[in-house]
Amino acid sequence: MLRSGKDYLRSLQDGRKIYLGSKLVDDVTEHPGFRNSARSFAHLFDLKRDAAHTNALSFEADGDRHSFYYLQPRNGEDLQFRMKGHKLWADASYGLFGRSPDHVASFITGMTCRPEVFDIPEHGFRTRLLDYYQYIRSNDLYVSYATHPPQGARNYSTDAKAHFFKSPALHVEAMDDEGIILHGMKTLATGGAFCDEVWIGNLTPLAPDRIKEAVTCAIPVNSAGLSLWSRRSMEGAAPNEFDYPLSSRFDESDCMLVCEHVRVPWSRVFTIGNVDLSRAIYMETGGHYFGNHQSNVRFWSKLQLIVGLANKIAKSASVRGIPAVQETLGKLAAMEATIAGLVHGQVSDHQPLGDGYVVVNQRYMYAALSWCQDNYGLICATVRELMGGAIFQMPADISIIESGKLNDIFETYWATDGETALDRMKLYKLAWDLLASEFGARHVQYENFYAGPPFLVRAHSMRLAPWDRFDATVDTLMASYGPQSHTRTAAE
Ligand SMILES: Cc1cc2nc3c(=O)[nH]c(=O)nc-3n(C[C@H](O)[C@H](O)[C@H](O)COP(=O)(O)OP(=O)(O)OC[C@H]3O[C@@H](n4cnc5c(N)ncnc54)[C@H](O)[C@@H]3O)c2cc1C
Repeated sequence: MLRSGKDYLRSLQDGRKIYLGSKLVDDVTEHPGFRNSARSFAHLFDLKRDAAHTNALSFEADGDRHSFYYLQPRNGEDLQFRMKGHKLWADASYGLFGRSPDHVASFITGMTCRPEVFDIPEHGFRTRLLDYYQYIRSNDLYVSYATHPPQGARNYSTDAKAHFFKSPALHVEAMDDEGIILHGMKTLATGGAFCDEVWIGNLTPLAPDRIKEAVTCAIPVNSAGLSLWSRRSMEGAAPNEFDYPLSSRFDESDCMLVCEHVRVPWSRVFTIGNVDLSRAIYMETGGHYFGNHQSNVRFWSKLQLIVGLANKIAKSASVRGIPAVQETLGKLAAMEATIAGLVHGQVSDHQPLGDGYVVVNQRYMYAALSWCQDNYGLICATVRELMGGAIFQMPADISIIESGKLNDIFETYWATDGETALDRMKLYKLAWDLLASEFGARHVQYENFYAGPPFLVRAHSMRLAPWDRFDATVDTLMASYGPQSHTRTAAE
């Protein structure tokens, strides 16, 4: 079943408990901090049912149509189909929805391609995972996730012991025949305000003794005892769409998850009490690779928007003909081509996953994640440099067009040969919102941390690199000469 945007919006009115500061948000579809972004998510659902896109964004199985991200890929064509679906969807939100519904669903789909990883007696539950996959696929549900302990409740450093006994980290408080009871806090459900279900797990490695935290499960977002603590809403802070065109429509929300004695039935518990397994389910299945492949594709869409803006800014400022500016634009265009190549390479150099399934190239996927983390801030800084002080040369806000005489002055002095004053203002307001507003700053932080801190992302490249092959290359070269070589010349 493919849900309509309308049905999706209706399902958001389910009594979920979201706190914005001290205020409880009654209804995200009506609240000024969330309603426009809810509609932007609804648009993604509608796209899947749009006759022009339905074949690209859904597939048929078991007599029904399902969202593209639930396809379990068996060959390169299937991966290509998934990648194109991610791209079409990411383009629709300009790459600004990091946790669009295809992100976590791709993790779960990837897990179902190697469900045997869950076959650990008393700790992992293969059948429950497969049933859950069928459930979210059939009902076209949007799942977000919270997969890290809160800061201050970890065991990273030597001073962590002090925190340990009063750790607020989410853990299993009790269990009985019907299920488990969760208590504590988890970091950080992006999309939490807009999803149907939250997946709770552990992508940060846990110390061997944090067994109670080693739980993987999924719960409806309106579960009794669950509250979502949202950061400041940038949509709510945006005074209008013209001045903040992105904050006002694409604010996907980031929420801390607080569980106060939340009951979870056994049917929704996928791993329990096994620290290693609670993390292995991501890396030893297709989970981490399919999910983060979506992130790479989504970044590509965002970079296309940024490069387009850079070009328009250069034209608007009449500097596009300057060789140094052209070099900057060339550098940005090369970066867009780099991420495009990294995405396509992951599909064309795919790998077997076992049991007839395939996965995107894992090393290329991590290389792309790392590259994006390293470069996003740099890219934003480059385009901001190109903007010069333009944003500060514009009137404070769009109210200028209502001012009659002042607006005439604005159009007289601010217009250029090719652009009206209003067009210029629109361009720079958009660029500022993307690159420098509170919304823009959140995106810098997002691109740096959504897949975990950079040192953890690099550790995956370390883990998967073919070090023997690299060593062999050096050995072959070193074996081709010896100490006697210093007496020989090339001519001999
Ligand atoms: C905007 C945003 C959205 C997010 N969305 C989600 C989401 O949807 N779901 C989800 O589960 N998580 C999400 N995250 C959480 C994200 O995964 C975490 O931010 C990330 O794992 C880092 O954890 P932390 O923020 O607690 O920082 P910490 O782990 O406390 O790290 C703080 C600093 O210390 C450094 N550091 C810590 N340990 C080491 C070490 N051993 N070696 C070197 N440096 C170290 C880090 O690199 C970092 O610079 C999101 C984060 C952001 C910023």
